[in-house]
Amino acid sequence: MDQIKDKVILITGASSGIGEATAKLLAQYGGKVVLAARREERLQALTAEINQLGGEAVFHKADVTSSADMEKLAQFALQQYGRIDVLVNNAGIMPVSRLSELRVADWERMIDVNIKGVLYGIAAVLPMMKQQQAGHIINVASVAGHEISPTSSVYSASKFAVRAITEGLRQEESPSSRIRSTIISPGMTESELLNTVTSPEVQAMAGPIKQLAMSPNAIARAIAYAINEPEEIGVNEIILRPTAQP
Ligand code: NDP
Repeated sequence: MDQIKDKVILITGASSGIGEATAKLLAQYGGKVVLAARREERLQALTAEINQLGGEAVFHKADVTSSADMEKLAQFALQQYGRIDVLVNNAGIMPVSRLSELRVADWERMIDVNIKGVLYGIAAVLPMMKQQQAGHIINVASVAGHEISPTSSVYSASKFAVRAITEGLRQEESPSSRIRSTIISPGMTESELLNTVTSPEVQAMAGPIKQLAMSPNAIARAIAYAINEPEEIGVNEIILRPTAQP
């Protein structure tokens, strides 16, 4: 994984699950990881763990639904390291429910975190990456960004949007400014994501989902692969799910 060494890699949603596993793996490969999320104490503990193991990590508290926070996060990374090579837009929530439950506040939160959060991340790093004529934006979508099931409509819509935005970015930027764009679409993964569910119907399905889920390390490995490919190779999308997931 030579291409990861010394890359400055900003990861949102690094306080648990996929973001945490990704931060640890990329730091093991020599990446300089900049960790972001809202739970500062989690970020602090993870940063200390990575640094103790000989990796290089710093953290900055940021809410992805605030464009000002995302701007400050990018500025923080620039002050620390003078550049940003990779942004992993990973933060997300999944308070799924049937539309008829009218959980309008959950719909709004999913749109704010899952779609606007990704856009604010892109806005925070794109001008600088264009100046560098290099960079890599990795957006975490989902298998639910390919298929819809009862209760998933708004979450799926948000992840379809993530895929559309990432592909649009690729078409606009890869040929001219050499900025790579990657969609990572995981299936069921062990994490704290089910804690964001508010619907009792969906909460009742949590047990079987947890039994099937794969380790977040599998997603971390997919992200590492996309970064590690030579600059002239763009890994456009990786879909991965537990073998037993329908
Ligand atoms: P977790 O709940 O474990 O992690 C979600 C992360 O997002 C946390 O670090 C959380 O940090 C952060 N986050 C949530 N809201 C905000 C916010 N407003 N601002 C900043 N950070 C925020 O779940 P996962 O690791 O599973 O989720 C990571 C990504 O993977 C998400 O985009 C999810 O949709 C996607 N995914 C997950 C799947 C799964 O089965 N687990 C399957 C497919 C896709 P904090 O609360 O500290 O801010």
